[in-house]
Amino acid sequence: MPTPPDLSYPELRLFIGGEWRGGAETLPVVNPSTEAEIGRLPVATPADLDDALAAAETGFAIWRHTPPRDRSDLIRRAAALMRDRHNEIAHSITLEHGKPFQQARLEVIRGAEFFEWDAGEATRTYGRVIPSAPGVKYIVHHQPIGPVAAFAPWNFPMSQPARKVAGALASGCSIILKASEETPAGAIHIAKAFEDAGLPAGVLNLVFGVPADISSHLIPDERIRLVAFTGSTGVGRHLTGLASQHMTPVLMELGGHAPVIVCEDTDVDAAAVSSAIRAMRNAGQVCTSPTRFFVHEQIYDQFLTGITTRSAATVVGDGLTDGVEMGPLANGRRLLAMQELVEDAAAAGATVTTGGSRIGVVGYFFEPTVLADVPDHARIMQEEPFGPVAIVNPVSGLDEAIARANSVPYGLAAYGFTNRADFVDEMVERVEAGNVSINTLEASLPETPFGGMKSSGYGREGGIEGLHHYTVVKNLSHSIEIV
Ligand code: NAD
Repeated sequence: MPTPPDLSYPELRLFIGGEWRGGAETLPVVNPSTEAEIGRLPVATPADLDDALAAAETGFAIWRHTPPRDRSDLIRRAAALMRDRHNEIAHSITLEHGKPFQQARLEVIRGAEFFEWDAGEATRTYGRVIPSAPGVKYIVHHQPIGPVAAFAPWNFPMSQPARKVAGALASGCSIILKASEETPAGAIHIAKAFEDAGLPAGVLNLVFGVPADISSHLIPDERIRLVAFTGSTGVGRHLTGLASQHMTPVLMELGGHAPVIVCEDTDVDAAAVSSAIRAMRNAGQVCTSPTRFFVHEQIYDQFLTGITTRSAATVVGDGLTDGVEMGPLANGRRLLAMQELVEDAAAAGATVTTGGSRIGVVGYFFEPTVLADVPDHARIMQEEPFGPVAIVNPVSGLDEAIARANSVPYGLAAYGFTNRADFVDEMVERVEAGNVSINTLEASLPETPFGGMKSSGYGREGGIEGLHHYTVVKNLSHSIEIV
């Protein structure tokens, strides 16, 4: 008989040099649906961080010389364990993050896919031979850059850490991962899977604590050769500044405020339903969440009615309850932020066509919200809301829509609904975003490069571009004769 999945919340530990360790100081981890404490997380001391740095150096010395095929096989074995354990991992994620269990399961599978894609890429970090004179060879190598300090946020507890660990390990780097203190279980499960798959000690190290203390300890250390971060633009800027003082390169996946251009030729009702579902996914706490809708005035009323109706119908509740489509916000900060942004928009003259308020008094639940006719001076038109809200405004045509799409400092994802090739061409040419999707609100897959322009960051994760940051280009010039 198959063993039933272990649905208990995992014991929270640091993973350093291949060993799990606790700590004298701990932080609470809370279920955002109930506000009850579900675990305590050790805080890494400076000595723990020094141990992690030493372990990452030792791990790198082993891993960089491990044949790419062996690295690839080991990553695949770990990914297979994550797939086998997907129910228990998803259960932990729903407990600590609040998202519906089925969405947590899909996230775990997506995390495994990130590992599988990069496992394949591990064997394809090709260099090239440059044409040269007889007796001379110029050969370009891509070598692992070295130990990585990576920082992953709380909105996708499994797939966010997976991106960084996959990129580092596939390239032959070691990594010190600081995952989110609020949602640590995904990263703990990743580390367990790699431990069970036989990863050499020190290649993957996992720490938690006070984020600023950890980044200011790790980033200036000369053993760290790359800083990889996903999170807010403000923190990304701060970490980039810190890294630049040491000439350490960065990979920055930062915030977004994705425009959606809804053209007059589209299937309005289908676009409205798809938009409502996607805007409320993960309670809107997604950097690619469709947030700013610019809708052609001829179809504006129909679209607004459609997105309002479907948003209002979203089933909100504890993510472990069957049929729930949207859980709570992941923490109290987001609840406060949503309340403030919606109040500010309403005061500026926006119409709240559905939602706009907290649900109940226990748990960080917020109503799926649609704001219409929001003036440009409302804060929510400029600030990434990172919550369950769609902002819908009419436009006179494509030129106005593109100008308004580009009017924020962000440039991560952008979307369009249209069947006209000329409109698609215009959007791809002129919209400032690293990812443009037409008639789909999907922006990030293992096989496609993902990242931002402008204040949304620097570098790409996924696709064949995904390992570029984790490698360094070294050119060999080899003359047979001494010249
Ligand atoms: P925040 O800006 O304080 O933190 C964002 C992330 O950075 C968190 O994961 C946090 O642990 C980490 N962090 C903060 N200070 C750090 C430091 N000095 N060194 C290293 N890591 C540090 O805000 P928050 O309330 O946690 O999140 C809110 C905002 O963050 C949202 O509005 C959203 O814009 C952004 N965010 C973006 C993503 C994303 O996928 N791009 C994910 C989560 C949060």
